[in-house]
Amino acid sequence: MATHTRDDGFHEIQLNGKQLVFLFMAATVVSVVIFLCGVLVGRGVRAERGGPGADAPLGVAAETTPQQLPPAAAPTPPGSDPTAAQPPPTVDDLSYFNRLQQSNQPAEQLKTAGKTATAPPIKVQSQKMGDGIWFVAGGSHNSMVVEFPTYITVIEGPLGEGRSLAVIAEAKRLVPNKPIKYLINTHSHFDHSGGVRTYVAEGATIITQEINVPFYQKAWAAPRTLAPDNLSKGAKEANFLPVKEKYVLSEGNQTIEIFHENGSMHNAGMLIVYFPKEKILEEADDYTPDLPELAAPGGIRPPVFMANLMKQIQTLKLDVATVAPMHGIVVPFSDLQKAASSGKG
Ligand SMILES: [Zn+2]
Repeated sequence: MATHTRDDGFHEIQLNGKQLVFLFMAATVVSVVIFLCGVLVGRGVRAERGGPGADAPLGVAAETTPQQLPPAAAPTPPGSDPTAAQPPPTVDDLSYFNRLQQSNQPAEQLKTAGKTATAPPIKVQSQKMGDGIWFVAGGSHNSMVVEFPTYITVIEGPLGEGRSLAVIAEAKRLVPNKPIKYLINTHSHFDHSGGVRTYVAEGATIITQEINVPFYQKAWAAPRTLAPDNLSKGAKEANFLPVKEKYVLSEGNQTIEIFHENGSMHNAGMLIVYFPKEKILEEADDYTPDLPELAAPGGIRPPVFMANLMKQIQTLKLDVATVAPMHGIVVPFSDLQKAASSGKG
């Protein structure tokens, strides 16, 4: 009896040949309509994005200093191209901190970002570390400004021209009326060397490990057509001061020692800078201390980087009290020691 009932139910949903053909044709028509709707919607989005000047060079933003930024709510004159009037985000917009700060942005705002958003000003925060020594932070990458009796030395020109212009302005504010004579480049990775060209245009000599010199000479001699920067506009020749193992900058009572970090697994041409009087060690990418509320940008680094840095400190007999890292915050040397002994950094 039970078997018979189930059998009836099965027969009820059986279709004859004509019905099957009709269903097949109906499904085909519906699919074609959905496909055509999709094509139309897709075209609409492209038309909205396009228009004259949509392929304007990306260099617009790179040349914009914080002071020159248009106001956020500036209306676009009719007929003009909104993408040209509102520069695309600079490299610094994509920095660790800016992205964190923008993480609460509602999705609706993000959809129209291309039309309404402007690049936020590049943040620069200086911290005095000694006589004529400043740690310049405020973004994902740090620099240092060092005052000598007749000139300024900047350590690290990271990211790109926007960041460099902001750090140069800060250096000139901290130390008025002195030229930036040297830029010390810790290593050639793009995020640590992207802003070095601006210092060449500024007239600074680039201090870098000797293996980097041919690379920079070749890279900077290439035509720069997409995003012209100060160097490509000024066509200045770069001056280098190549460091083999050690170089000392000294004038009056300011002295800094620049060392090649031998055996670095992060970059073969890595430089570290030691301030003998203040016992400060500047380093990049070997040790990145966590910020109190945030983990270090780029996450945990292989312990071998820290181990090699510790080995160098011992070999060179550096008496370090404070670490000035090119990512993260200034910390006592004991933090690096702790991190190195636990293998977490
Ligand atoms: Zn690196």
